[in-house]
Amino acid sequence: MISKLSDLFKPIPGTEAGTCIVCGFETSRGHDIDLSDNFTAWNLLQEGDVICEHCYSLLKNQDYRRKSWIADSQGVRFLQRGEVLDTLLNPPEPPFAIYITRTGKKQGFLHLVNRLNYSRDRFFIAFDDSLIFVDRGRLSEMVDVARRARELKFSKAELLGDIRVKHWEHRELCERILSFSKNPVWEVVVYAVE
Ligand SMILES: [Zn+2]
Repeated sequence: MISKLSDLFKPIPGTEAGTCIVCGFETSRGHDIDLSDNFTAWNLLQEGDVICEHCYSLLKNQDYRRKSWIADSQGVRFLQRGEVLDTLLNPPEPPFAIYITRTGKKQGFLHLVNRLNYSRDRFFIAFDDSLIFVDRGRLSEMVDVARRARELKFSKAELLGDIRVKHWEHRELCERILSFSKNPVWEVVVYAVE
């Protein structure tokens, strides 16, 4: 049964029994707690004494930290930056989870451990070390605005609110950009738009 993020990852069984510090579930097939030096997300762990066979799989493969990915009942697939917006606009059948990283340095996907998505219209994603709520209708408006602005040669800095005078000939577009500029979803859109 799929009840948490790491259930979407192929288990690597161990021999230790206890409570998992990542997902909080009990297991008899866990591993000793031995996190690599790259591990930075101590604040996202919970009380326990092992890492379960599912969370071990999620933490063991460093590509899950370095790259963006989507996980669903079919498994895990890495995402290129150019695929991010279409993936968010057309998420798969639930349950699913989506991690987007710019830096490849954090284990921000741990925000999603007990937060699998069951709706394609309103869902959470992790973006580096932030947890972000996405409303798909609102996202679609933002993607429209971002794509139109990019066609008109707006830079990414301008999309983040630093708009040069010459672009004010597109006043309505500029105003919409400014209305989004403090929104965390907009930050994801600006990162991912071509
Ligand atoms: Zn676990």
